[in-house]
Amino acid sequence: MCTCQSCRKASCCDASSICMYITITIIQVGTACLWALIIFPKIHLLNVITSIVLTAFFALSLLYEMSCFNVTVFSDPGSVPEWWKELALPVWQQRAQARILTANMARGAPTLQPTPSTSIQTVDSVEEEQETTLQQFRGDWSNTEGTDAFERITWCEKCQNVRPERAHHCSVCDICVLRMDHHCGFVSNCVGQWNYKSFLLFCISTPIAALFYIAGAVLAAIQVFKIRSDSTKSFFILLPLLFWAFILFILSVFALSMFIDSIRMTQHNLTSIEDHGARLESIEVVKDGKVTKKQIRGAWDEGSGTQNAIWVMGRDWCGRINPFSKPRIPFDGLYYPHPPDLLPLRH
Ligand SMILES: [Zn+2]
Ligand SMILES: [Zn+2]
Repeated sequence: MCTCQSCRKASCCDASSICMYITITIIQVGTACLWALIIFPKIHLLNVITSIVLTAFFALSLLYEMSCFNVTVFSDPGSVPEWWKELALPVWQQRAQARILTANMARGAPTLQPTPSTSIQTVDSVEEEQETTLQQFRGDWSNTEGTDAFERITWCEKCQNVRPERAHHCSVCDICVLRMDHHCGFVSNCVGQWNYKSFLLFCISTPIAALFYIAGAVLAAIQVFKIRSDSTKSFFILLPLLFWAFILFILSVFALSMFIDSIRMTQHNLTSIEDHGARLESIEVVKDGKVTKKQIRGAWDEGSGTQNAIWVMGRDWCGRINPFSKPRIPFDGLYYPHPPDLLPLRH
């Protein structure tokens, strides 16, 4: 278990996570070194302007990719805040007690009253706290009056505590993660509510940076063949360039496939966990007095890819491409309205 106070994950400091982080960093730094030592000098001889422009694009794309990677690795994927647990736990305890009483009554058994030592709050105080939490949640989200923020909370057997809907327990990190997608071995971290955006940006920036590298390597190879008559020397110069291009190509194909699959799920506001078994269905939406039909998939699909993207990318378009900014989303990942109830209100 990691001993640092800021990190409650079990996986961040184990040997395999450190090895994977070092491997990815070596690939990134190695790509930059090969460019600086071999590719840039060669294409500079070929064409000065091309070398400067291509180097600028390559450097920017690689720096961006490294930023997205490090943000995904080191950010909190979505641990459940303690203040939320303190508010939700009494609600869960009340429901559990109500279920026990109902079951006892159904069996005809004597009903058990809570003892004075039981730390269960009164209904009034719980409702008061729920209302305060809802006020915190609502913010500028105006169409959710009367929403019960604790309606669909669940219980984690591993953490022995409450958790919001869509939160899942990661057995590797040993915590519950908000809107958990999966535990990613490449970034040695869970991909959840708060680092899903940087993960998507990492997945798309990897093939972009690789594309610039491969373009540079091809131009460098042309220059090598132009000036060298000795094919053996040319081969030994080109070998590391082409070997590296091959590694980057394989990683890019994998990253791109992850990106495409993640975008497909984001379009329906689904995670990898929820994607299994989610069915496509048709709902009716009232817009300007007219009833229109929309195709939705899963319980949180709002029928619009743009609207669904808000839940992982935030509303701000500049923020969507900034890996360092935390996406600003309704309810801070602690509550997700079920759209069929809300669609008629939003349109
Ligand atoms: Zn848990
Ligand atoms: Zn995890």
